[in-house]
Amino acid sequence: ERVYGVSRWGGGYFHIGENGNIKVTPNPSDPSIQIDFKAVIEEIHQEGVQLPVVVRFHDILRSQVANLNTIFRNTIAEAEYSGEYQGVYPVKVNQMREVVEEIVDVGEHYNYGLEAGSKAELITVLALNTNEDSLTILNGYKDEEFMRLALLGRKLGRRMVVVVEKYSELLLLVKISKELGIEPLIGVRAKMTVKGRGKWESSGGERAKFGLSFAEIINTARYLKEQGMAHCLKLLHFHIGSQLTDIRSVKEAISEGGRIYAEMHKMGFPLDYVDVGGGLGIDYDGTASTSESSRNYSMQEYVADVVYGMKEVCDLEGVPHPHLVSESGRAITAHHSCVITQIVGEIRSNSAGVDTGEAEGEHYFVKNMREMASTFDQQTNMQEVYNDASQYKEQALDAFKLRVLSLEELAKIETLYWEIMERLQAYYAHADYVPEELQELDYSLSSQYLCNFSVFQSAADTWAIDQLLPVVPITRMNERPEVNCSLVDITCDSDGKIDQFTVGREITDVLPMHKLKPDEPYYIGLFLTGAYQDVMGDMHNLFGRLNEVHIFSYDDDPEDFYIEEVVKGTSVEDVLSIMQYNPKAMAYDVKRLIDKQVSAGNIKPREGVRWTDFYEACLSGYTYLKTGK
Ligand code: PLP
Repeated sequence: ERVYGVSRWGGGYFHIGENGNIKVTPNPSDPSIQIDFKAVIEEIHQEGVQLPVVVRFHDILRSQVANLNTIFRNTIAEAEYSGEYQGVYPVKVNQMREVVEEIVDVGEHYNYGLEAGSKAELITVLALNTNEDSLTILNGYKDEEFMRLALLGRKLGRRMVVVVEKYSELLLLVKISKELGIEPLIGVRAKMTVKGRGKWESSGGERAKFGLSFAEIINTARYLKEQGMAHCLKLLHFHIGSQLTDIRSVKEAISEGGRIYAEMHKMGFPLDYVDVGGGLGIDYDGTASTSESSRNYSMQEYVADVVYGMKEVCDLEGVPHPHLVSESGRAITAHHSCVITQIVGEIRSNSAGVDTGEAEGEHYFVKNMREMASTFDQQTNMQEVYNDASQYKEQALDAFKLRVLSLEELAKIETLYWEIMERLQAYYAHADYVPEELQELDYSLSSQYLCNFSVFQSAADTWAIDQLLPVVPITRMNERPEVNCSLVDITCDSDGKIDQFTVGREITDVLPMHKLKPDEPYYIGLFLTGAYQDVMGDMHNLFGRLNEVHIFSYDDDPEDFYIEEVVKGTSVEDVLSIMQYNPKAMAYDVKRLIDKQVSAGNIKPREGVRWTDFYEACLSGYTYLKTGK
């Protein structure tokens, strides 16, 4: 627990069991339910589903929707706030049908709606969000088709609010709604001067991509009045960025947004709703701080700041409390899914060595290196040893390129070099002061665990924006992890790695893991991948989407669970088709080539059939490594 901090980032859903396995409590209000993750993996194997696999806990999704809505309702009652909470889930955070359907299902009880930010998302939510009492918020840039679809929603009795991001959209919306004779519900997005703090802080400020300036908001309201449509203006929206790390930015945004709402009210535009956007962060690194992968507040605190903040502004200004909308997707989905995979190998710079014994006629570089390795001890100046050894190694490499050293001699020098580095590392492990160059030693001597997955598919933000995600072994948590390592994936890209972790409360480039055992699989989980990571991945190296299993718990047996659904990941033929290949034609071509060899007598007919079948089986198989158990 001290190393991996599971209970700190686990949100009450994940913890370490007494047997050293990760346990899942999908509904923290019923802590008696404890699913052993190792048992989940065994069930996955039994179902014949290959790793890597995305494991979704729908109960967690339901629990998060219920949490957010209940906290808003309770805080509103406690604050004697007179508006209601009408949240929406922004589908861009995870558009998977099963995820959105689950949210809509549990959200019905709270009139919890959906938000769409593109035409395809609008088409999705139009079909899904059928509850007439919930809101559908439409953000993002829009064209004529977009407006028509939104108005179709109105025709179907839905509370679809078109949020104007740019002034020209307003003119388009008014024109089309008059043409169709359908009254729209209109929102305006304000370009806020307050900026969030964190990786997405450019969502606020004057250079923000979206939103209307103060002048444009006034012009919008006046234009609608001129057109006899002032009553259609219903909502003020702002969003100052995802993953807000500091609660102060939430407070500032509410007071600025509250002032805009109040002023509009006084100008004769009584809006019904204030939509505070997303921003509610996740504590990915378990530090509960303003570090970029964390946040210094809880969901409770966030909600209290929204409700009490808005109440304060409105009471001061003497305007009614608006209904509150929020668009949190990260906080709803992050915990509900994770990626489970297996370590398939270990890479170490110093893993192999050669016999470094003296050979006749060897180059004096080898002699010097051997002498240094055998003579230095506690009394030697260690920094000098490091400098000399590094210099010899570099010179040896140059000498090899100039054909002065043989490959065998170079291998001896390399072996001796790593021997020296290991001894230096042992020496400095207990030293009070470690010279700067030698601080890299732990990293260069650490292992790289080769992981059967693609960072680009399953953890895009760790590559793109250095987002930290918790990585933990699924078993053996009651054993001391003795191997410091980073993770590398199976893509042919040196960026395909994870070398940023939180150990305790520190950010490190290596994570302590357990020694691999030859006859026992070592499973690891990449957690909190439910928001964005699940859907943003790309097909680098043609590794497609992962197999997926959906886990539900049984009410009557707290340790039991079942796989409700298996969703097959992308097969090789699927990814090839996306890239415009024709897998059937490819299979035919390869068969013809095999047949040719059969005709020439190079392959026996039976063997030819087997090769053909094998190629076809691989074509329809999974894109990841087949690891067995
Ligand atoms: N609403 C809008 C307009 C957004 O741009 C975003 C994401 O940046 C969200 C909601 C989701 O916010 P979060 O990731 O904080 O849940």
